[in-house]
Amino acid sequence: MNILLFGAPGAGKGTQSELLVKKLSFLQISTGDLFRAAIKNKTALGQTAQSYMDKGELVPDSVVIGMVDEVLANLNGKNFILDGFPRNVAQAEALGKILSQRQLEIGKAVFLEVPSEALLSRLTGRRVCKSCGAVYHIASKPTHKTGVCDSCGGEVIQRNDDKEDVIATRLKTYAESTAPLKQYYKSLGKLVAVDGDRNSEEVFVSIKAELGK
Ligand code: ADP
Ligand code: ZN
Repeated sequence: MNILLFGAPGAGKGTQSELLVKKLSFLQISTGDLFRAAIKNKTALGQTAQSYMDKGELVPDSVVIGMVDEVLANLNGKNFILDGFPRNVAQAEALGKILSQRQLEIGKAVFLEVPSEALLSRLTGRRVCKSCGAVYHIASKPTHKTGVCDSCGGEVIQRNDDKEDVIATRLKTYAESTAPLKQYYKSLGKLVAVDGDRNSEEVFVSIKAELGK
């Protein structure tokens, strides 16, 4: 089954996707990661995306949709998780069209529910490895050596969009544009809400149960 994961910034989509990849062999399609890779590689797509990301705004729908369509064209039969896409109803509708053109389907739309107080501390304390992308948190998951990645020795930094003023815009964008997806997928009978305000292993167990695994 193919699934999509959505929720507020900091809800734990990336962490849960990583577990789904490792333990259930899903292919992760993270639009945020794809944009960050494009920025790192200094492509035209990266340049476009960065100007929006740095402000905490959504990258224009046409750009994101084109990018996802390209990935979906090269799946080689793997089950996939959409992580961070769709992020508004227009993207969800476009996704529906792309999928049916490719004779693909989303089985469940998993919503990670986390109270807004928890989101803020998760985001302001988040740190990421510049080289391998490993995710840390200054309080709940610090690196052994400050600023150095435990797994690859790379430099551990704060994402530009994890600075407090940008976080405020991201949360607002989420509330206005992404939260309505709950109703959208509910009416399609695909919505599954999971309590994301627990440690990541517990959340993962719930997601697995929802997937019948
Ligand atoms: P988070 O979910 O924590 O905000 P992501 O890595 O998913 O982090 O996204 C980071 C940024 O990338 C977003 O704030 C937005 O600018 C851009 N982005 C990611 N996915 C999309 C999308 N589907 N549509 C528009 N912009 C996106
Ligand atoms: Zn690393």
